[in-house]
Amino acid sequence: MDKKTVRDVNLEGKRVLMRADFNVPLDGKTITDDNRIQAALPTIKYIIDQGGALILMSHLGRPKGVDPKLSLQPVADRLGELLSQEVKMAPAVVGDEVEAMAKALKPGEVMVLENTRFESGETKNNPDLAEKLAALGEVYVNDAFGTAHRAHASTVGVAEKMPAVAGFLMEKEINFLSKAVEDPESPYIVILGGAKVSDKIAVIENLLGKADTILVGGGMANTFLKAKGLELADSLVEDDVLDTARELMETAKDKLVLPVDAVVADDFDKDANQKVVAVDAVPAGWRILDIGPDTIALFKEKLAEANTVVWNGPMGVFEMNPFAQGTFAIARTLAELEAVTIIGGGDSASAVKQAGVADDVSHVSTGGGASLEFFEGKLLPGLGALNDK
Ligand code: ADP
Ligand code: MG
Repeated sequence: MDKKTVRDVNLEGKRVLMRADFNVPLDGKTITDDNRIQAALPTIKYIIDQGGALILMSHLGRPKGVDPKLSLQPVADRLGELLSQEVKMAPAVVGDEVEAMAKALKPGEVMVLENTRFESGETKNNPDLAEKLAALGEVYVNDAFGTAHRAHASTVGVAEKMPAVAGFLMEKEINFLSKAVEDPESPYIVILGGAKVSDKIAVIENLLGKADTILVGGGMANTFLKAKGLELADSLVEDDVLDTARELMETAKDKLVLPVDAVVADDFDKDANQKVVAVDAVPAGWRILDIGPDTIALFKEKLAEANTVVWNGPMGVFEMNPFAQGTFAIARTLAELEAVTIIGGGDSASAVKQAGVADDVSHVSTGGGASLEFFEGKLLPGLGALNDK
């Protein structure tokens, strides 16, 4: 990575303003999954160990103005438990009281600002808000890969007003993802799935030039199959992008591998009747909800040769167990490969966790939208705003 990281700056005795991704799922005031807090710990601990006074900020949910239900207090409490030290909670995002607290913070101490989206200037990247945030610290650290695709006051505006470096999570994400996008070791196989082609056209276009093979599953494959002239009954198909699908297949030639069979159901329901059919034999009134066993075997055979694999998008409606088998089979296959295996996308990441193999692949990205924009070849604004090495 060509951006400076926390290792490249002196943090001793400095007030360090760090943007983390603490956008955790809440049930009332209880955090139901603290993965994102855990993911920020290496950077947090490093800053404390270096003698920095740490001021943390994050958004949480999508409040319109101040909303006590989306306070970061539960995050501060959980962080205090994980660090076994006091974590102070600011009464607001910015303002005189917050500034006084920040200035009084001693080396090794930690405080958390309120939800950055309590300020309407956050998502507008308002320069006044960025200025007030910058006044709180002396060095800015961005470890929030999951929001790096958004140009907000806490991710971009503030970074332009002070020395700005990446945290370890940001660095790890960028190193893995750029390896996959810019410098993959061939054979390079990309697996794409998920509901829609239209969500992923830019991803397909960008990776098509780089990949040796693209395996397509999920609802997305339906649109390609229909573009080839197949009749898919009640399957999810995007008729308005059939032409685009045809053009992509034209460019891809035989790089693009489509399913040969599918699990079909007579209703969009986990208890529906289901059977395996060839993709050219979907009965009237039925719909494709997963890839079939021959397709799994075909994809496995292709994957066996890979040195780099990028996967985005489930192979079927994995939220319903009868239609999760294709997705899980692919997840287990990746787990067994020697290749560098990288998973991006929110649903894909949760599918890999559900399959129980998240620790057996090279990298599961913590940023759904951000990883997709990276696969599209876009420069992430939150990363772009950091200082070059
Ligand atoms: P990611 O979040 O990993 O980028 P997407 O959001 O693009 O993935 O796609 C995930 C969704 O695609 C899931 O909700 C899944 O149910 C849906 N999906 C996969 N296959 C099908 C299918 N054959 N028919 C309808 N929906 C599907
Ligand atoms: Mg998704």
